[in-house]
Amino acid sequence: MLDVRAGKISPRDLFHSQIKIPALTRELRFNRMSDSYDTIIIGAGMSGLAAGIRLAHFDQRVCILERHYTIGGLNSFYRMGGRDYDVGLHAMTNYAKKGTKKGPLAKLIRQLRFSWEDFKLAEQIGSSIRFPGAQLDFSNDIGLLESEIEKNFPGQIDGFRSLCSSLLDYSDMDGDDPRFMQSAREVVASHVSNPLLVEMLICPLMWYGNAREDDMDFGQFCIMFRACYLEGFGRPYKGVRVILKNLVKRFRGLGGELKLRSGVSKIHTDKGRAVGVVLDDGTELQGKRILSSAGNIETLRLVMTSHSPK
Ligand SMILES: Cc1cc2nc3c(=O)[nH]c(=O)nc-3n(C[C@H](O)[C@H](O)[C@H](O)COP(=O)(O)OP(=O)(O)OC[C@H]3O[C@@H](n4cnc5c(N)ncnc54)[C@H](O)[C@@H]3O)c2cc1C
Repeated sequence: MLDVRAGKISPRDLFHSQIKIPALTRELRFNRMSDSYDTIIIGAGMSGLAAGIRLAHFDQRVCILERHYTIGGLNSFYRMGGRDYDVGLHAMTNYAKKGTKKGPLAKLIRQLRFSWEDFKLAEQIGSSIRFPGAQLDFSNDIGLLESEIEKNFPGQIDGFRSLCSSLLDYSDMDGDDPRFMQSAREVVASHVSNPLLVEMLICPLMWYGNAREDDMDFGQFCIMFRACYLEGFGRPYKGVRVILKNLVKRFRGLGGELKLRSGVSKIHTDKGRAVGVVLDDGTELQGKRILSSAGNIETLRLVMTSHSPK
């Protein structure tokens, strides 16, 4: 038997044998250089893991570096006293039923080559926006929110419907489009005249995904409006660990390397391009591409503190 994993077969032997198992050939190729990668990804949260899988599918040698001792980032999990806890995830936005062709979840499942069953998503039963003296229930069927607005804010439903039809679609979303940067409060108020309703509609969207203090970019508002009200919420039956463990299993299965307790302290640049990283313990790794999910400002700080002049 040819024991490729134990290194008892040379690449030449492998060439002459009829073995065509991608994972094994990939492993051999990866053993060539231990500290140089096609892509280095900073952060093993959901975005770092998903990017790693996508790149590994295209036969890239990928290494994900994570400062924490575990995966998941802000959406992590732990077990204590016999109970499972999710750190961040309350519900997953952009829910879609099995077989849906459009929207971010369908695209993600397709691109990462998962099946709908892998994430074991259950649809929400219902949610509620509660302000003193006012309540709006909503579900993954926008009809419920419409009927709630009709009931609780008579005279506002036409404005709400015109707001819905003015939303940017994911497909025509362009960060450079001047509409993207407009004030969401101003756009919503141009359709909906009741200030309390404006506040109630915008509040959950700001909680779920907004970097500004008192307002949202209209483009971001559209993303979150679709994610929360039009597509809605779901949750894996056993919490976020189901998703994260599946992502790691797939990434490692494709030959990807995941290094925990490996914080990046510097990003090296050469002629304006990121070419490598320095870890907290001083280890240096080279990469043709460096992707970071550490955050915009945090990533720039890593580049700024680099020894490189640029
Ligand atoms: C309290 C809370 C509740 C939330 N609830 C929900 C929810 O219910 N539903 C939902 O959809 N979203 C929710 N979110 C948002 C969700 O957590 C984020 O959108 C998601 O975690 C972003 O994933 P990410 O991979 O881009 O970044 P992160 O999760 O932030 O991952 C970045 C990773 O990079 C690592 N890192 C940073 N710097 C370095 C470095 N220098 N070297 C190495 N590693 C580094 C970090 O340790 C981290 O693991 C919630 C967030 C919070 C905080």
